[in-house]
Amino acid sequence: MNDKVRTAYTVSRALTDEIAAEAEDLEVTIRSHQGQKPFQGMEDYYPHVLRGVDALKSGPVRRDVLEYAAAGVPVFPVHSVRNGRCTCGRAECKDIGKHPRTMHGFKDATTDPKRVPAYWQRWPDANIGMPTGKASGVCAVDIDPRNGGQQSWQELQAKVGPLPATLIQKSGGGGQHYLFRHPGCRLPAALADGIDLKGDGGYILVPPSLHLSGKVYQWTRKDPVNCLSKLPALPQTLLDTRAAGNRGPQTNFRKGPGTRD
Ligand SMILES: [Zn+2]
Repeated sequence: MNDKVRTAYTVSRALTDEIAAEAEDLEVTIRSHQGQKPFQGMEDYYPHVLRGVDALKSGPVRRDVLEYAAAGVPVFPVHSVRNGRCTCGRAECKDIGKHPRTMHGFKDATTDPKRVPAYWQRWPDANIGMPTGKASGVCAVDIDPRNGGQQSWQELQAKVGPLPATLIQKSGGGGQHYLFRHPGCRLPAALADGIDLKGDGGYILVPPSLHLSGKVYQWTRKDPVNCLSKLPALPQTLLDTRAAGNRGPQTNFRKGPGTRD
């Protein structure tokens, strides 16, 4: 199956458990039988499947969301940016395009083939959140240039030596997330000034979420979803530098549902 077929297949499975045909055949069948009744009950879910297929073709977020979920990456909907404002509609919003759409935030993250399409059918332009920590098996070294993160990162690398090449997410605002395999234990909240560490209790936005700057979040690799399942381990040397008395706030790893970048 190629990507298009696999994604369409995911949609069809998500919306109709009964459909077992391959998605390519399914779409052809659906289009050729629109308005007809190939078998009893089929007309009831044709429109849903077609909506799914159409959404897939028209929405750039939509397709990626399904690819994440199909690959076992849990996602949840996050507010986005529209006309320079947060989709929550509050003029005073301090977390534009970055806070969860749902009540339980990252705890609503799922790979469920029904819930994921349902979220983005309800909010087609929602940004995409991915929980860090055990939920996804991913932890993120969060470099914030506004707080000196770039300089700290250079200093840190000079101390610990070369780090394994890994998947990097670039936010639309100049920040970066270096992603590693989560070690499954409690992590410090920060490694140095301007460098946070996101594990259990946090989340990050993943591409192609939209940033307030008008730019979209981007991956540095062409096959990010595949890379997410094969991340290198978080280098112990990074943690050791902190344990040795490096700068950074004391443990404050659980920041609650609103934690993100
Ligand atoms: Zn908002």
